[in-house]
Amino acid sequence: MYYLQNNEFVERHQVHVDLEDRGYQFGDGVYEVIRVYDQKPFYLAEHLTRLFRSASEIRINLSFSIEELTKRLHTLINKNNLIHGNLYLQVSRGIAPRNHAFPKEAKPVFIAYTIPSDRPIDTLEQGVKAITTQDIRWLRCDIKSLNLLGAVLAKQEAVDAGCSEAILIRDQVVTEGSSTNIFFVKEGKLITHPANQLILHGITREIVLEQAKKLQLPIVFEALSHSEIGHVDECFMTSTTMEVCPIIQIDEKPIGDGTPGSLTRQLQAAYIEEIARLALVSN
Ligand SMILES: *Cc1c(COP(=O)(O)O)cnc(C)c1O
Repeated sequence: MYYLQNNEFVERHQVHVDLEDRGYQFGDGVYEVIRVYDQKPFYLAEHLTRLFRSASEIRINLSFSIEELTKRLHTLINKNNLIHGNLYLQVSRGIAPRNHAFPKEAKPVFIAYTIPSDRPIDTLEQGVKAITTQDIRWLRCDIKSLNLLGAVLAKQEAVDAGCSEAILIRDQVVTEGSSTNIFFVKEGKLITHPANQLILHGITREIVLEQAKKLQLPIVFEALSHSEIGHVDECFMTSTTMEVCPIIQIDEKPIGDGTPGSLTRQLQAAYIEEIARLALVSN
């Protein structure tokens, strides 16, 4: 198994994480998770564009281009013979004696590796349960930052309640999930939070919105109020690894009849078609 550290392919024991890496000490960096289907990274260009944007928003300048990185990631997938799985990428601001302000000379540290994993087909079929909890994260949730404490604490609260995801509530409205974007269906309309600084602009979210447009579903970009959750017909979450996953229960109350909704099923099917379409195209 190979790891890409800066621009070198190394083995696990050769990966070096420094005690004074700012990613380690401050969570000072950004990351991406990319799905690989049938050896092909799904929407790679969109993920790399977002990585470069996240880095630039926290004033990290990468020394390589998206084109160079694309080539290296294809090499990594081939070297590791990854068929189905995830690509994890992260960039930290670099290594320097501990001090909050940016170091003058630190060079960003980049790491990428592959994780084999199958699609969560049973979960996608059955749907999951969720809880709601306060969104205690910072005000730049549009940056895919390594600082994940707000998300980690929320997810653990969900797990402690026997659920899979925590739906985050800020100022009495739903923002997103701890690591997913949230959609609701009410009276035939698709409702999701607008892509502003309070949510991560999910690539899966964008794909689903594109497909909803093609299906001519009305889309409402609004934050659903917490008290409205009990009155929706359907709910689902989206992310690179969870794709389009039905949410069948929130805070112990069933959504609709407590089974995945029909529009959710339609959008799931459209998403699987998109996977098939791109995974059939050769590299
Ligand atoms: C990564 C992430 C998502 C999902 O984004 P995708 O690009 O669809 O994987 C949603 N919310 C948060 C907080 C995330 O970190």
